[in-house]
Amino acid sequence: MAGVTATSLRPSETELGRKRRARRIGRLLTETHPDAHCELDHANPLELAVATILSAQCTDKRVNEVTPKLFARYPTAADYAGADRTELEELIRPTGFFRNKTDSLIKLGRALVERYDGQVPGRLADLVTLPGIGRKTANVILGNAFDVPGITVDTHFQRLVRRWGWTTETDPVKIEHAIGALFEKRDWTMLSHRIIFHGRRVCHARKPACGACTLAALCPSYGTGPTEPAVAVKLLKGPRARDLAAAAGVDPGLVPTQAVVAEVP
Ligand code: SF4
Repeated sequence: MAGVTATSLRPSETELGRKRRARRIGRLLTETHPDAHCELDHANPLELAVATILSAQCTDKRVNEVTPKLFARYPTAADYAGADRTELEELIRPTGFFRNKTDSLIKLGRALVERYDGQVPGRLADLVTLPGIGRKTANVILGNAFDVPGITVDTHFQRLVRRWGWTTETDPVKIEHAIGALFEKRDWTMLSHRIIFHGRRVCHARKPACGACTLAALCPSYGTGPTEPAVAVKLLKGPRARDLAAAAGVDPGLVPTQAVVAEVP
């Protein structure tokens, strides 16, 4: 099947077997990443919508460095609608693609003022009609600002669910539906955060830390990255790198400081 590695498929696995294995992985992810959350700082739906637009092709950390000043300067949709383009561009420049993003923010502000009384709507069907907001962003907003369960199919999510053989779909909407069928709706938002956390800290696109991964026994793609624990621990990332190693049964003392201080992508 196109784009799916032979190792990620379990041809003999029944649908029920796949669902059970998926849920076991889901439970392990809950234990592995108790700190999983939306990594974009925000205090309301508008701030999350803006932060999500800025996060395209940019790390969440960089976005979070820019947004305190931005949110203070533009607290309402009307503020974005009437923004001075040059000033807004300067504020968001560090996030990259700042001209396109400025355009999206001003158009978003105008659409919210014109069609939704300045408020971010809480329905998928409405959200996806807004400038700069696609289905992925809409699900992030629903799940984290409105408590409506949503699955966020970003690049990490796509890579990991395919490595786990949860689906062979390649289209993000089809992936969203396939994974939605494996889990209770109420778990969708947190499951998305945990999968994305795992993708950023352990199961990287290049060189996943298989030898220091809590999911090794359940993962058909085990071996995609180094399996030797002493090598794998160096690939872990972030302040909890030592906890992640310990959770996988690997001596946390093997984790170099470099991994602990490494910026999570
Ligand atoms: S790091 Fe390796 S074992 Fe862990 S989930 Fe990714 S591919 Fe599977």
